[in-house]
Amino acid sequence: MTRMESSIISLIRLDSPKPQEGDWICTPHGRANCARDIVAVAELQTKDAVQPYRVCGVWLTENEDAAGYLAERGYDNR
Ligand SMILES: [Zn+2]
Repeated sequence: MTRMESSIISLIRLDSPKPQEGDWICTPHGRANCARDIVAVAELQTKDAVQPYRVCGVWLTENEDAAGYLAERGYDNR
């Protein structure tokens, strides 16, 4: 488990998983390391910006902040 410098401010689940294509890639893993479908979009607050993160299902379980967020609050569009 890894902890990020930034914190999640929202986590929206897609209606259905969407395959990576073009610019639509898994932000935390990158195109070279991840071929899984995107299942959610997270907004991350970094030091001076809010960054959209497109994420696969694995990231949601392996990332401590994401797993904690879901356990505490669930998805924001639920
Ligand atoms: Zn991924």
